[in-house]
Amino acid sequence: METPQEPEMVLGGHRVVNFCTNNYLGLAGDPRLIEAGAKAMRQYGAGGCASRIISANLPVYEQLEDAVAEWKGAESALLFNSGYQANLGVIPVLASSSDIIFIDEGCHPSSLDGVRLSRANIQPFRHNHMNQLEDLLDRFRSEPGRRLIVTEAVFNTGGDLCPMKDIFTLAVRYGATVYVDECHAVGVFGDEGEGLVPRPLPSFVVTMGTFGKALGSYGAFVCGSSLLKDYLINYARTFLFSTSLPPASAAAALEGIKIVRGEPERRRSLWNNIDYLQKRLMVIREPSPIFTMMTGSSEEILRQWTYLIDSNLYVQEIRPPIVPEGQCRLRVSLTSRHTESHLNRLLDCLSNSVNL
Ligand SMILES: *Cc1c(COP(=O)(O)O)cnc(C)c1O
Repeated sequence: METPQEPEMVLGGHRVVNFCTNNYLGLAGDPRLIEAGAKAMRQYGAGGCASRIISANLPVYEQLEDAVAEWKGAESALLFNSGYQANLGVIPVLASSSDIIFIDEGCHPSSLDGVRLSRANIQPFRHNHMNQLEDLLDRFRSEPGRRLIVTEAVFNTGGDLCPMKDIFTLAVRYGATVYVDECHAVGVFGDEGEGLVPRPLPSFVVTMGTFGKALGSYGAFVCGSSLLKDYLINYARTFLFSTSLPPASAAAALEGIKIVRGEPERRRSLWNNIDYLQKRLMVIREPSPIFTMMTGSSEEILRQWTYLIDSNLYVQEIRPPIVPEGQCRLRVSLTSRHTESHLNRLLDCLSNSVNL
């Protein structure tokens, strides 16, 4: 890609409509984020060049943490350098070898890796399968140790939502903590784009999100109690042993949160687009900006994808090893800045490509 993350981008010299960006609200190119980043870079330098616990604990990080905690209705927030590092660092702090983790099989690889690192007893449950989760919680009812349920607010590959109310009910009944990855929910859901976890943050819930998607910048946060934050500062290895986030990224994320909270019209345009596509594709599940079309084999999907890219429409093809053979699909993500004409072009080509 040769141009910024916009609905139309130049790919190998061709102008294509980009349906695979997570720039849901169009903030990555917003002049206010760019200016905030440039200012922070001039003020603090291009890099932190140390971990925050050594000599790089700049005011911009603490301002960003305060802004996140307020926005998410949480007692406190802690920054991580990316969503991947947050999941890798936090999950092993929430559960260790004497504990049990119940994880949705559809979770992002970063959560799966965090769970592996924890050395806990790992009990995966089928994607969004609440009966199986309950059976597992029940089976281990009298085992000692902590229980942690790991899930995603909006699942990254399919775009479907987790049944959060049901998970919270089970967590309370079985004394579990819930870890919710809201990477695709923040900016998109909630009155102020705060995501899908209710405010104030329930005491048994820990939530994380990235600044690298709807927020238009880079980096990530984890929200929970002040006690959890203190504990993470001391034990989360990806926080302790990694150079701080570039100050420009933190300052741009801070500006991103202000815009996400203060300009609901961006969310309205995004949801208008979601609604438009949802109705025409006759999708019946709960809506999100991510749409997937199941198409079967690798060959079929490649044929459809080639037809779309030849029509200058860039969608994501999901094939092995990301999914098992036979479950290949096309994945489309929408932003607030796609126009009706972009969507109509996509719909036309999708209906043509089915008959190839
Ligand atoms: C993108 C993503 C991550 C990783 O976040 P980065 O900030 O890009 O490292 C983690 N979890 C989910 C569900 C994601 O979609």
